Amino acid sequence: MHEMSLMAEIIRIVSDDAKVNGIRKVSRISVIVGDLSNVLPDALELAFFYFQKQGLVILDETTELELISEAAKARCRKCLLEFTPDYRVALCQKCGLPHCELVSGETFRVESYEGSDEV
Ligand SMILES: [Zn+2]
Repeated sequence: MHEMSLMAEIIRIVSDDAKVNGIRKVSRISVIVGDLSNVLPDALELAFFYFQKQGLVILDETTELELISEAAKARCRKCLLEFTPDYRVALCQKCGLPHCELVSGETFRVESYEGSDEV
């Protein structure tokens, strides 16, 4: 499951930034997971649970993971209809054309994190 390496990457990004900002303990990590990002929230939580048990300095079992879902949205370039696509390649629900651009739903990134300089 690639969520394991994604979670490792998230923790690395947060750890690096926390170090720069003098934060020694992270209490919450917020991550945006788009519906079309190919990331499974359940698997991501499982991976986080695994890393919580690893005795990392930066986070432990009190650290929260907040997953913010981002709905998929597409817009037809012809009639400008906005709709919820099932896949990355979407057919406009009005004119049936495949010339739609994805407006949202592909995001996968750390939105923010909270922590303190006390361990
Ligand atoms: Zn259309």
